[in-house]
Amino acid sequence: MANKQVLVLGAGQLARMMSLAGAPLNIDISAFDVGSEQIVHPLTKNVIGHGLNNAIASADVITAEFEHIPHSVLDICEKSGKFLPTTQAIKAGGDRRIEKQLLNDSKAANAKYAIIEKRADLDAAIEFVGIPMVLKTALGGYDGKGQWRLTDAKQVDQIWKKVSAAIEATPHQAVVAEEFVPFEREVSLVGARRVNGEVAIYPLAENVHVNGVLSLSVAIDEPELQSQAATMFTAIAEQLDYVGVLAIEFFDVKGKLLVNEIAPRVHNSGHWTQQGAEVCQFENHLRAVCNLPLGSTQAIRHTAMVNILGQNRVPESVLSMPQCHIHWYGKEQRPGRKMGHINVCGHSHQEMKEILTQLASVLEPAAFPELKDRVSKL
Ligand code: ATP
Ligand code: MG
Repeated sequence: MANKQVLVLGAGQLARMMSLAGAPLNIDISAFDVGSEQIVHPLTKNVIGHGLNNAIASADVITAEFEHIPHSVLDICEKSGKFLPTTQAIKAGGDRRIEKQLLNDSKAANAKYAIIEKRADLDAAIEFVGIPMVLKTALGGYDGKGQWRLTDAKQVDQIWKKVSAAIEATPHQAVVAEEFVPFEREVSLVGARRVNGEVAIYPLAENVHVNGVLSLSVAIDEPELQSQAATMFTAIAEQLDYVGVLAIEFFDVKGKLLVNEIAPRVHNSGHWTQQGAEVCQFENHLRAVCNLPLGSTQAIRHTAMVNILGQNRVPESVLSMPQCHIHWYGKEQRPGRKMGHINVCGHSHQEMKEILTQLASVLEPAAFPELKDRVSKL
């Protein structure tokens, strides 16, 4: 195989981890920083190019690490004919209206919803969706931001103030009102699809969110759920003619999966694959977009991932714990920000749990809310 140049839209930790995974295969990554509009090296952040157009011209393939990319940039990339998965997939990931339509077109079970642009739509949504209801901005939401819960008809006026302010603040904004799903837990599926339709799907991960942000992901082995999730994965990926890694978040309601949302990219709940699967999600994304044979997605041991939120250090003793692997993102510290993660493995579930318990006992409880408690329930 020959060397490949891949341009990634977005210069965050996902581009960084793609770069680390691509190096052994001679796949070089440059990243377009959407904020500064510069082409940078994904590890050093040094400016390495001369603008987007030159970077597009010298890339073999263009892909993305997140979905909130200006459509003007996506359109230029689309014109080059080098962009994968598809700009339609990125737009679906970045706009809940398009996403919900896609789920219905793919016959993937999902929560009942209505779109709100004006006050009368809110009243109609209450009628159709019912209370309790979750309201989410169509554009720009992540980590639970841009969301409100309506749990009582008395809150309607108060909620409308917040919802209407959000709609007015951003062009083309709207709010998607969804029925509140009384789920037992949240799981997600990460998989890759190649241009010839070949797919490689990882085991499901069970996810714990704290205040809307992913805190803990544990790979699970549950064939019945896996098969439901895989069927929806394949339907959605085919509907989009998708190429690359796609992640799907689900609610598990008494053993029946409903899709919550999709992410047209490598995903935080797939970071466990770096130590827990034969080939990790970052390498498989690059293999897929470079049209190379996909690698095995088989789990090689029991693995969980703990996010490091808002902290730029953990005790050095973590490094001496067996089967613990720290991944820092090299980002500036901010409260609550995803700064890195720790993958924890074990040759058995019990061993993984023991190491997680040991880890939870040395990490600052304030920075890892609920970790101890959640680990004890695994
Ligand atoms: P992400 O960072 O995963 O992109 P996000 O901000 O896009 O998050 P969602 O995943 O849609 O938002 O919602 C965040 C969390 O809020 C979910 O993981 C889930 O815990 C909860 N949630 C979202 N929608 C619903 C719903 N309809 N019913 C119940 N809980 C919900
Ligand atoms: Mg989510």
